[in-house]
Amino acid sequence: MLVLGIETSCDETAAAVVSDDRRILSDVVRAQIEEHRPWGGVVPEVAARAHLQVLDHVVARAMAEAGTEFSQLAAVAVTGGPGLIGGVIVGVMTAKAIAAVHSLPFLAVNHLEGHALTARLTDRVAFPYLLLLMSGGHCQLLIVDGVGRYQRLGTTIDDALGEAFDKAAKLMGLGYPGGPALEQAALRGDPRRFALPRPMLGRPDCHFSFSGLKTAVKLAWERLPAEARSPQAVADLAASFQAAAADVLADRVVRAIHRFRQCAPEGRPLVIAGGVAANQVLRSRLARVAEGEGMSLVAPPLRLCTDNGAMIAWAGLERLQLGLSDGLDFAPRPRWPLDPSAAAVHYAGV
Ligand code: ATP
Ligand code: MG
Ligand code: FE
Repeated sequence: MLVLGIETSCDETAAAVVSDDRRILSDVVRAQIEEHRPWGGVVPEVAARAHLQVLDHVVARAMAEAGTEFSQLAAVAVTGGPGLIGGVIVGVMTAKAIAAVHSLPFLAVNHLEGHALTARLTDRVAFPYLLLLMSGGHCQLLIVDGVGRYQRLGTTIDDALGEAFDKAAKLMGLGYPGGPALEQAALRGDPRRFALPRPMLGRPDCHFSFSGLKTAVKLAWERLPAEARSPQAVADLAASFQAAAADVLADRVVRAIHRFRQCAPEGRPLVIAGGVAANQVLRSRLARVAEGEGMSLVAPPLRLCTDNGAMIAWAGLERLQLGLSDGLDFAPRPRWPLDPSAAAVHYAGV
């Protein structure tokens, strides 16, 4: 059983064909790096137009590389939200057209569920598991009980972690896309040179906060005299930022593991997902944290951490196997929480 997955919710135009026996037959990702670089970040209107221009080619390539035809598909899955609405509309309209013309089931997938279920595609992880989802727009700890069944333990009360990476990178002149550039720069840096804050450390809940860390990076950078803003200073500040982020994640994850243990059977793993999960420093730190708690860490391959079509195809397949599908009247959703019952978090005095 083959499903085509389409992803256009941010700055990657992606399409992939995945089978129910967990083979990724094709996985085409076209990042919009050149389009957004002049602006130093993702411009929604530019993104939507770029998706419109290349999506047909990306889908055709994914189908050709998989050696299949639309008539052989079991369904078409597409990111239905959350994300930049112009891009989501482009993907949803294209997927609906393919589904209508070839009489295929249409699946509108929650982009976050795509990230959340990736470890089931790559590592056959069974439910339930503890998930740390860290991406450009989100930073959450969730218990994944099943397809469409999430309990949110914690979330960021301000910036997402990927956003903090991107903004820190931008202000140090590392440009867009920031996360991978910051990780590269940090390789040669001293993580102890700058004393940055560790927001939320030791709090009894499982929430995150990264805007104070971002501001601290900004202040540290601005305090450096112009002649001291050397490549070594950039490397040291990048490494110091990454170390602070790692400390915060470690503390919050341990807290979540203790909560998870109260309601989950023994031996269930910690899974990480989202673009920031591609960061090697964070991956190895979280592996140590999990090990210290007697838990295994499941981290998808780097390429499947950042946005891709395979995760959307897989989440679609999982829903299809449960007999779920969507109508062609599905309306794209700019917001779409995984756990709609989770209350908004209001923090006083953070
Ligand atoms: P969301 O999934 O919340 O809707 P998104 O789809 O834009 O947001 P992803 O594609 O999952 O986010 O992840 C992109 C984010 O991951 C960016 O903020 C990027 O800087 C960050 N990122 C990617 N690679 C790395 C890395 N190696 N180290 C740190 N951050 C990274
Ligand atoms: Mg992206
Ligand atoms: Fe994403």
